[in-house]
Amino acid sequence: MSASGNRHVAPEAKAAATVDWQRVRADFPLLRREVHGKPLVYFDSANTGQKPETVIAAVDGYYRQYNANVSRAVHTLGEQATSAYEAARDRLAAHLHVRRDDLVFTSGTTMAINLVAYSWALPRLRPGDAILLTRMEHHANIVPWQLVAQRTGASIKVAEITAEGVLDLDALRAAMTPDVKLLGVTHVSNVLGTVNPVREVCRMARERGIVSLIDGSQALPHRPIDIAAIGCDFYALTGHKMCGPTGTGALWARREHLQAMPPFFGGGEMIREVRFEGTIFNDPPHKFEAGTPNIAGFIGLGAAVDYLDAIGMANVEAREAELLAHASEEMARVEGLRIIGNAPHKAAVISFLIEGAHAHDLATLLDLEGVAVRSGHHCAHPLMAFYGVPATCRASLAFYNTHAEIERFIEALGKVRKLLR
Ligand code: PMP
Repeated sequence: MSASGNRHVAPEAKAAATVDWQRVRADFPLLRREVHGKPLVYFDSANTGQKPETVIAAVDGYYRQYNANVSRAVHTLGEQATSAYEAARDRLAAHLHVRRDDLVFTSGTTMAINLVAYSWALPRLRPGDAILLTRMEHHANIVPWQLVAQRTGASIKVAEITAEGVLDLDALRAAMTPDVKLLGVTHVSNVLGTVNPVREVCRMARERGIVSLIDGSQALPHRPIDIAAIGCDFYALTGHKMCGPTGTGALWARREHLQAMPPFFGGGEMIREVRFEGTIFNDPPHKFEAGTPNIAGFIGLGAAVDYLDAIGMANVEAREAELLAHASEEMARVEGLRIIGNAPHKAAVISFLIEGAHAHDLATLLDLEGVAVRSGHHCAHPLMAFYGVPATCRASLAFYNTHAEIERFIEALGKVRKLLR
């Protein structure tokens, strides 16, 4: 049930070079498969990450050995399931440096942001209030705010970015006018790879009495995260991009917000006492977790956190920086290739286009070479509009990728370019 990632990886603080990355890669069974008769090169981890054996085993072990509902049954299976489920909350909380009870399990970032939108913002915002977002937000951090704005009469303001894909902090500061009640910012852009200076941004917001929400979906898989040090009010995350199962995620919130917020969903498990005249709700986080959760998924997420902790997120970050440098350098040499997003501080996410070729054609031809990249608008229409393109191709790498795969990708790009000429 528990991850055993320790057996071949270096302890936390050691340099990336001391981790045996080939053995780490061998933990991911899917990476051994072929696509169109060629060994798979999986460069779509920003879309969803691959799962190590220990995560798959944790999910499998739950269904085989102690499948039962949580927080209800007193029998042995029920107690085992509840303790494994709650242990996942402990692990994730320790990973993020927060208190376990301030971590609400959700189906992912989308639900976490919607929880804040409906439970925190909807009862509070009034006509004349504003929600400040940035140009590089994912639709999950735009559309819930539009829905809330329509219902409250609040408006949406946008902080712009530079052509390199860097958040313009002067523009952001200037946009923080007294009508702004909430700021939503992504920690790492899923299109540009830009790592935003969230500490500074949250400090600026706090100084002006603005509540801040950080979308951490693309940050958690790649770097150590200390939510307390960031100083935000809300931090939303997704499990499936950080080696965990789909349908898992969480919202971290300051305790005072969780206590003040009304529940989003009503039902079983989120109550202390129900009478037809009224209900007394359970304490957070359970107040926000109505119904039977994705038990197997969260047990798998606990195993994913163990797995990443055993490698050490500082090692993951260093390894991916190395892969990013290699891929960017090689891609810059491909004729007609344009990289979109050139921030000095980037995660291993590279959006690109090749002159004269549509992004979908590129991705389809790369797939025939065994290379999986995503093409499309990446749920970021406003960002595509900023760059004046309908879509990009995106290569997103993870620590389990290799330098040899980058070479194969570059070779495949060369072939595809010739075909498209
Ligand atoms: N925000 C960002 C930056 C993302 O990349 C994603 C996933 N593509 C989301 C939010 C939404 O995450 P999920 O679909 O897991 O809820």
